[in-house]
Amino acid sequence: MRPRIMLVEDNEQNIYLATFLLARNGYDVVQIRNGIDAVNQASRVLPDLVILDIELPGIDGYAVARALRKQPELASVPIIAVTSYAMVGDRERALQAGCTDYIEKPINADTFVKQVARYVPPGEGGGSCPES
Ligand code: MN
Repeated sequence: MRPRIMLVEDNEQNIYLATFLLARNGYDVVQIRNGIDAVNQASRVLPDLVILDIELPGIDGYAVARALRKQPELASVPIIAVTSYAMVGDRERALQAGCTDYIEKPINADTFVKQVARYVPPGEGGGSCPES
């Protein structure tokens, strides 16, 4: 079984890169492109881990994290925030909103999957077509 990652990201380049890295390293990826869809679809997707961009259209990643933590199915699922903000305090703000950890953009291809694997070990490798 390959773990299922819910990727909440609105930037197409980041979606492509993150999906590519995860899919080739043993994860299935469900792509969600805005915060509202993330909140509404999470209990149906039932991810093993959530990668959550902070700067999203509609509602931001902090609000998404808080909403996910109120859903019983998502209460204990690891959420890794991804933000381009270099501002001091963002990590604390993400953690206060319920995120488990924090990754800074730009996505580092050498460390991105390792950071995910720290929380959810990969399944067997090989390319599967990511869900959209
Ligand atoms: Mn964004």
